[in-house]
Amino acid sequence: MHVLLVEDDASIASSLSDSLRGAGYDVTHVANGAAAIAADPTDLVLLDLGLPDMDGYDVCRELRATSDVPIIVITARGEELDRVLGLELGADDYVVKPFGFRELVARMRAVSRRARSATPDQGNDANGGAVGETALIEVGPLSIDLRTHRVTLAAAGGAATELRLTPKEFELLCYLAEDAGAVRSRTDIIEHVWDANWFGPTKTVDAHVANLRRKLGDHEWIEAVRGVGFRLEVPAALA
Ligand code: CA
Repeated sequence: MHVLLVEDDASIASSLSDSLRGAGYDVTHVANGAAAIAADPTDLVLLDLGLPDMDGYDVCRELRATSDVPIIVITARGEELDRVLGLELGADDYVVKPFGFRELVARMRAVSRRARSATPDQGNDANGGAVGETALIEVGPLSIDLRTHRVTLAAAGGAATELRLTPKEFELLCYLAEDAGAVRSRTDIIEHVWDANWFGPTKTVDAHVANLRRKLGDHEWIEAVRGVGFRLEVPAALA
């Protein structure tokens, strides 16, 4: 797979290029928006939004105007995530700096799979799903579609509402839901959801758990097990 990396920070670009090549990708690196738009077509674009010559949003829009190539936007904290999330730009996904390499590769695989499954007769099984992936995790009224990254919660009346989760919230929810009822330790959560090489504060886990609880609408969905970690369970009121 050939990746176009659009990143003006030379040290990020060189370490990311090395990691990507080490993982088997061909990488073309450009350091500004004009070069990104002029570049030959690739299989995927990693696009930093903070570029020296052009607004990264405009680069994204220009690329999208002529191509269906999967685009993953790379943003720094504080940039306008709403515009990215609104998909106003046509980006397929985004990662927020600093991000782990594992997370990035997982997102690259996911957007490539989605791009392939949107094209008939290419790598799909008879049901039109991506090969080798269990598409749905269900825990009571909660349903997580791994292929589309959609999370829905069915209300008592049967109507389902879609939850808008950040990528990290989505991964955390998946990790807990894969083995609902089991306790996941903070260390395991950080390793799986963030990165084995991630050294941030474990408070981040608590902050994401708090956001998920709020979005799930019931604190009881995620139980804190003192001194151990967290477990996902259907709240008594919904069981
Ligand atoms: Ca930049």
